[in-house]
Amino acid sequence: MKFEDLKIHPAILKALKDENYTEPTSIQAQAIPLVLEKKDVLGSAQTGTGKTAAFAIPIIQHLINNNQHEKGRRQIKSLIVTPTRELAIQIGESFNAYGKYSNLQNTVIFGGVPQNPQVRQLQKGIDILIATPGRLLDLINQNHISLRDVKYFVLDEADRMLDMGFIHDIKKLLRILPKERQSLFFSATMPTKIVKLSQEILINPKKVAVNPVSSTAETIQQQIYFTNKSSKKNLLLHILKNKDIEQVLLFSRTKHGADRIVRNLRHNKIESAAIHGEKSQNQRQKALEQFKKGQIRVLVATDIAARGIDIDKLRYVINYDIPNESETYVHRIGRCGRAGEEGVAISICEPEENAYVKDIEKLIKLKINVSDNNPFPQTDKPMSQKEKKEVDAEKRRERQKFFENRNKKRGNQNPGFRRKKR
Ligand code: AMP
Repeated sequence: MKFEDLKIHPAILKALKDENYTEPTSIQAQAIPLVLEKKDVLGSAQTGTGKTAAFAIPIIQHLINNNQHEKGRRQIKSLIVTPTRELAIQIGESFNAYGKYSNLQNTVIFGGVPQNPQVRQLQKGIDILIATPGRLLDLINQNHISLRDVKYFVLDEADRMLDMGFIHDIKKLLRILPKERQSLFFSATMPTKIVKLSQEILINPKKVAVNPVSSTAETIQQQIYFTNKSSKKNLLLHILKNKDIEQVLLFSRTKHGADRIVRNLRHNKIESAAIHGEKSQNQRQKALEQFKKGQIRVLVATDIAARGIDIDKLRYVINYDIPNESETYVHRIGRCGRAGEEGVAISICEPEENAYVKDIEKLIKLKINVSDNNPFPQTDKPMSQKEKKEVDAEKRRERQKFFENRNKKRGNQNPGFRRKKR
């Protein structure tokens, strides 16, 4: 199939030629015609599938067609909400590239930087706004942004948005957005929470998907070690004795856990580094570059930090814990074995996580191989209900602290804006 077959405006086709895009990716071939027909779309696709162009191209086309009749200062007609500044910037660049022969203006806003330059951009009048949720709401509250004229709304990486605790911000936004609009909703995974959210946003959506979430798992060799919590450190060292594992991306549920793992590995002379939300952008970038250059053997990441990153030719993934959302497991192991390479995913499971493994196996419709080379097998009983409650309460406290810290940071940047307590 060619882009020409999708009835794309000549100004966009010319820009795509400049980008050397010869044919649409699967998600683009599926989504572009639907968006051009003004349908709401529920898209199941990860970064790297070409999903940005799948929504950017038809939105630019709608706006080219609408703009011929507009007079006066430009109003925001399309809003794209995405969880991180990196994604926001990338999306902005895509709109610039595909829309370079149109007369459309876009701007990108995100938190963590002074707001005034962004406000100045907004005041010039723009057609397309790409934003992260926090800064968007801040600027709406300060009357720097009106969403009154928004006709095309995109919620990008919805699952990640929820992981990052943006659900309340999204709900607030939905109350402000005009009801008459076309909405597009993209998420890499589709757990129940996400499907429910999509139902609040979309009307009679058409579904498009690439790589249904459970299928990636079939192409990756999977192995699991059942062990006790207290043996995990030593088990990891045992696994890493295998010299075939030249490099590995290791997932840890928490930031503190990630730091502890790195300390333990370094103590045992294994080069490693952590990337997570509390590391600065520079630190993350540096760790990633070192990993790509082969200077680091184990890159330890939390789920959120790992999502945006793309590591070519990664063969091994280790799950240092078993995620309680089965989709997260699929997402994690999908990081290895890309581009035709064989992937190996190794998971370490402590007794309290046994039940999660069952859920995962149900989702992937596959029994995960239990390693027969495990010097530290599980002997502890799974936790009692009471113990589990205590652990869950501890996790809740950790989460609460995360939000408090985040709000404190945001509050400092925007002293004029008070966020409601969650
Ligand atoms: P995305 O999934 O939107 O982050 O896109 C992943 C990468 O694929 C980006 O670098 C895009 O520039 C590139 N890309 C998107 N669509 C196409 C296409 N049809 N042909 C070639 N490259 C593309």
